[in-house]
This record gives sequence, structure tokens and C-alpha cells, in this order.
Amino acid sequence: MSAVQRASDGVSGEYAPAPADHPFLRRSGGGLDGLDPLGDVERREQAAMIHAGRLLSVHSWELVTAVDGPGTRMTTFLSGCPLSCLYCHNPDTMDMRRGTLVPTDELCQRIYRYRRIFARTGGGITISGGEPLMQPRGVSEILQFARDNDIHTAIDTSGFLGVRCSDAMMRNLNLVLLDIKSGVPEVYKRTTNQELEPTLEFAQRLGAAKVPVWVRFVLVPGLTDDRDNIERVAEIASSSPSLERVEVLPFHQMGRDKWEALGFDYKLEETKPPTAEATEQARDIFRRRGIATY
Ligand code: SF4
Repeated sequence: MSAVQRASDGVSGEYAPAPADHPFLRRSGGGLDGLDPLGDVERREQAAMIHAGRLLSVHSWELVTAVDGPGTRMTTFLSGCPLSCLYCHNPDTMDMRRGTLVPTDELCQRIYRYRRIFARTGGGITISGGEPLMQPRGVSEILQFARDNDIHTAIDTSGFLGVRCSDAMMRNLNLVLLDIKSGVPEVYKRTTNQELEPTLEFAQRLGAAKVPVWVRFVLVPGLTDDRDNIERVAEIASSSPSLERVEVLPFHQMGRDKWEALGFDYKLEETKPPTAEATEQARDIFRRRGIATY
């Protein structure tokens, strides 16, 4: 059975697929079913609404269990990302203009609908992407709404735009899934076309604010799997006082078709997924530092 089943009708409610015995790199959600997109609004007003947090550019959403945080979760994938990871399995989320504009209230209503499932399973919401901090005001509104309704909150972020996470937003976070793409700055740059430093600064802020962190690291043969690189990621992770776990996610080729469909240059055409043995060896590097690693 697939470890991730989609509730793509948007209303099917509870389901309980078998949990995966290890985490893995996921694709984005099933669709936008159940969400009413914005009607006709002038482009300038759209921009103002996004800026004010009343509108979000959304790629998709889905209900999942055993991924993206504890319990059953409503994971919403927002559009727009400042990174261009070579292994990105959701390249169609990189450009915010490709998303569908959804009123923030609309998303909140959808979240509210699942509150009992969240309570029963110890789940909640996860805002993913793309990069959620590309749309900080709207995300902040959603987090506040969730906390007001006792719903567990998480964001899945690279931390590159961590400076946009306000202290108020930070207080409304129960969990951050922090994607550390690489531990060596040059490898980070090669992998994402951006700098590592903002992620390190954000990790420090999360630690100081005692926000629980799950670090995610994608193991890509020939790109991120150098031992020194993994050691550096482990060093960064273990320096976080609020780290709860690390997930080492083996690279896969499930995003390749999307790169081709978008006409993007996919540079990992020839890259194979890591072997199970290599993935376990990478996990052992974290475990040796006493980190719960999956
Ligand atoms: S941060 Fe995520 S969404 Fe953005 S390019 Fe990297 S893998 Fe893709």
C-alpha cells in the first residue's frame, strides 16, 4: 500500500494508510478540490491582497498521515520559492504566478472542517510549498487562526527567508520542518543556487525560541552525499537545542516528468537514488550524535 493516500475529493475526511517505515521525499498534493479560488479581481488588487495576507497563491492541498508532522495533517502547498534545488520534485511550485489565488478565509474554513480529525489523531496543519515564507502575512493569518482553534501548526521551510518569520508567527508555530539542503556552503550553492547562511540564522532563532524542529535532508548521490557534507548537516542539526529528529530522505526521480513538462533543464537525469545501505550509512552519521533519525 502506498504510504501516502490522497483525499483529493477534499471532503473524504478521515483515513488511515499504513505509516511508512521510513520518511521519503514527497510530491505535492492532489489538487485544490473544495477550495473556491478568487473570482475576477484586478491584478494590482490581487497583489495588495496577498501583501495584506488576505489572499494566498496555492498549488494544492491534501490530507496525509505519517508525513509532514504528527498525526493526520492537512498539508497545503503554496506557490513560489526563492531556491531552485536541482532535485526539486515540485518544480511547478517554484513560480508564485503558477499558483491559484485562494482567499485566506477560504483556507481557514477548510482547516476548521477537519479540527476533530486533528484532535483525534494528534495532527494539525502543515504549510509547505514552494516556500511558505514567500507569503508571510497569509501564512501568519492561518497560523493564528489554527492556534485560536487549538489546532497544531507546522511549516515546512528551507529557512532561506527566515527573516520574514515574525516573532508573532514564531510563537504560533508548534513545529518547523527545516529542510537543510547541504551543510557545506559551496554544496548548498550548487544544489539550490542560494546561500546557506540564512538557514543557519533561522535555525538559531528557532532554537532560541524553543520551537521544536525536525530537520530534513535529501541524500542525492554525487551532489549531497559526501561524508563531510553530511557531517556538517549533522553538526548544524545537533547544535539546535529544540531539535527532535532528523529525516534523511533518499533522492528519487519522481519529479523528472514535471521538469520536462515545464521545459526546465533537469540536471539530475542520470542520477540514481541512493542504495538502502548508503541511506542507512548517512542516517548513522546523525545517530552517532545521539539524534533520533529516520
Ligand atoms: S526549496 Fe523545495 S520547493 Fe523550493 S526549489 Fe527546493 S525543493 Fe523545490
